[in-house]
Amino acid sequence: MNNINISEIFGSMVFNDRVMKERLPEEVYLSVINCRDGCSSLSVKDAKVVASAMKDWAIEKGATHFTHWFQPLTGITAEKHDGFIEVGEKGMAITKFSEKSLVKGESDASSFPNGGLRATFEARGYTVWDPTSYAFVKDGSLYIPTAFCSYGGEALDKKTPLLRSMEAISKEAVRLLKLFGMNDVKRVIPTAGAEQEYFLIDKSVFEKRLDLIYSGRTLYGSSASKGQELDDHYCGAIKPRVASFMKELDVELWKLGVYAKTKHNEAAPSQYELAPIFTSANIASDHNQLTMEMMKSVASRHGLVCLLAEKPFASVSGSGKHNNWSLSTDTGINLFEPGKNAEDNLRFLLFVTAVVNAVDNYQDLLRLSVASAGNDVRLGKTEAPPAIISVFLGEYLEKIFDSIEKGETNMPCAFADLGEVKTGASVLPALSKDDSDRNRTSPFAFTGNKFEFRMVGSSQNISCPNFIINTIVAEELSNLADKLENEKDVKKKALELIRENIRKHKRIMFSGNNYSTKWKEEAERRGLSNLATTADALPKFLDEKNVSVFERRKVLSRNEIASRTEALLDNYVKTICIEVTTAIKMAKKQIIPAIFGYKKFIDKSLKTQAKKSDKGYKLERTILDKLCKSSDDFADRLFELEERFDNMDKKASSTEKANYCKNYLIPAMKNLREVYDYIEELLGDEFSPFPNYDSILYSI
Ligand code: ADP
Ligand code: MG
Repeated sequence: MNNINISEIFGSMVFNDRVMKERLPEEVYLSVINCRDGCSSLSVKDAKVVASAMKDWAIEKGATHFTHWFQPLTGITAEKHDGFIEVGEKGMAITKFSEKSLVKGESDASSFPNGGLRATFEARGYTVWDPTSYAFVKDGSLYIPTAFCSYGGEALDKKTPLLRSMEAISKEAVRLLKLFGMNDVKRVIPTAGAEQEYFLIDKSVFEKRLDLIYSGRTLYGSSASKGQELDDHYCGAIKPRVASFMKELDVELWKLGVYAKTKHNEAAPSQYELAPIFTSANIASDHNQLTMEMMKSVASRHGLVCLLAEKPFASVSGSGKHNNWSLSTDTGINLFEPGKNAEDNLRFLLFVTAVVNAVDNYQDLLRLSVASAGNDVRLGKTEAPPAIISVFLGEYLEKIFDSIEKGETNMPCAFADLGEVKTGASVLPALSKDDSDRNRTSPFAFTGNKFEFRMVGSSQNISCPNFIINTIVAEELSNLADKLENEKDVKKKALELIRENIRKHKRIMFSGNNYSTKWKEEAERRGLSNLATTADALPKFLDEKNVSVFERRKVLSRNEIASRTEALLDNYVKTICIEVTTAIKMAKKQIIPAIFGYKKFIDKSLKTQAKKSDKGYKLERTILDKLCKSSDDFADRLFELEERFDNMDKKASSTEKANYCKNYLIPAMKNLREVYDYIEELLGDEFSPFPNYDSILYSI
């Protein structure tokens, strides 16, 4: 077996600090670092030097092309490759890469979702180098992470608002920290770690399922004989074929500078997870996009297909992407790490208060940050949080807030020794107790030194939830700073503010089982928002309160919000339409012929037997009878779906269309599926129109 030297291969395909230090003149290197820290922008002269060094390095790494790599509103990344080639003297080819090509690119903005921000006749869009995320070489091209915006500078992508939100939250956090005497902090950086769940199935079964090919999820299929009821897949031994996929994936990601760390089997059969070590939110988001891409391409090399959809299979767990989020100072302090002394803890509790306020005040925004057709199918089902937002703080933190709220003490903020976890076996080492026990059902949980947002869907770009969290927390930090800035006794006032706010926002805290129906009723009593679907959630983007927070924090303009909402609704409608078309096609081309075939087969047997005696008919008759009844149902439901699809008003607004999908198309698709799933169980194996759950979920 070959030894893998992680520190040797890590980042070997990345134009990172080490490479820059090696290859750039000192003063240019320093200006790149300054630029990255937001202190200044890069001069044309310096950009020229960087471009040239980048090109030489990339060519050594096997690159012949470069591409601006960006994240349009499609949710996936986009790239267009140009060769490092120019015409030289006497018609010879020379390699060239100018600072202009590094810094700015042009792209046809009208071909990407833009929600009406760009008309086709004024289609110019620009990609702009993001020096805060490293360039890298992959598949023979130099990839340059870029933001994507319109001629007028309006954001057309997922990265731009994330970068803006990082500045916004940094500014407010620094303001607040100054009040606590932390004057050395110049910047606060939101950090993120995205635990990525996914399914792996054999390519041969995938290719036989039109729904998986076109929609990424199954639109038909009754449960497999064995699901996840025995809990024997979660963290079970990894099968050799999967292990070899995971190993190659790790190596590829390490080369690209992604800190892939943890891998394991997840709850559902054929479901897995990869968690990286956290990093700055912007880089984490780029890395997560790379991880998803890499998962797909490495899977393909192993004869596998990686499914990233939120709910590829009914009746077993869907895939999410836990977005772990925290704030870190440029001096290396995690602001959500409980401090060692009372003063640090006061600051810590104030930051937690800001998060609690933000989650309560902007429930709708958090909900819509993860809204998509795919995630609608997952939320609230097997092992996924419902669409209701709440916060879990853990027993210990709750106790502290409780005592502050009751005014039991004026400075209770030093954390007592939490004691040890007693395992009961003396041979085992003592463990120190975590600050909170895990509540796996909460959509937004404090997990000791960070918050974990668990509603994010597996295929989603984490930029959106992160720019929304950054924005709303920035807003609350700013509100708190406003109230503290002119106070003589900051500590006393801070404690008062914590008390006041915790009282006000108590309704958002919940530590029970979020998956239970009781919680739904309780949440309604508490007046919490419950936006069950994307069609309900997305239009909330346009609520005045939400528009104004983005404008105040300079993250998105009214115009940008309107266009973004439009693009997202449009995506939802198109996704549902593709599902409907696929469901109808599978019904007509595959399911109906399968039913005919089986009916004919039974009929034939009945005819042969009829000639002999009356006995021995029972099986054929019963099955044929059931098949006939349910195929009548199938016909009715299929024609109903088709009729509803045809009746969709093509001229309606996006919101109207989204509501039509939600109220008419999705229920009709569900109805059709229900009767097919019943029929599937009647059909003999050789008459199955496509591989069933048993053969897909156990294909490896
Ligand atoms: P679990 O599966 O129990 O939630 P893991 O340790 O597998 O926990 O994943 C936790 C994730 O949280 C990892 O990606 C980790 O890097 C990330 N994380 C840890 N600390 C922070 C932090 N300060 N900010 C953001 N993410 C963090
Ligand atoms: Mg987790």
